[in-house]
Amino acid sequence: MPPNDTLSAWSGHWLTVHCACARRVHLPLKLLARDHGAETPLPRIVARLRCAKCGARPSAAELVESPQTSAPGYARGYPSGRA
Ligand SMILES: [Zn+2]
Repeated sequence: MPPNDTLSAWSGHWLTVHCACARRVHLPLKLLARDHGAETPLPRIVARLRCAKCGARPSAAELVESPQTSAPGYARGYPSGRA
């Protein structure tokens, strides 16, 4: 079985990221794939994320089929990890 932890394997899903400061953001994997490359492993993406509020790494991250909120623009809180 090929590894399936790349962004392309989950392109229809969202990544819900939790922070210790109680911040939570929903990131569409399509957007992450565009910024990081579709074959980038998800763990690598999570390791790059930083909270826009406190600067900490995510305390937890989970794949979901759709975000729990319908409000757009949630990806803005997390920069894509580029310098
Ligand atoms: Zn935070």
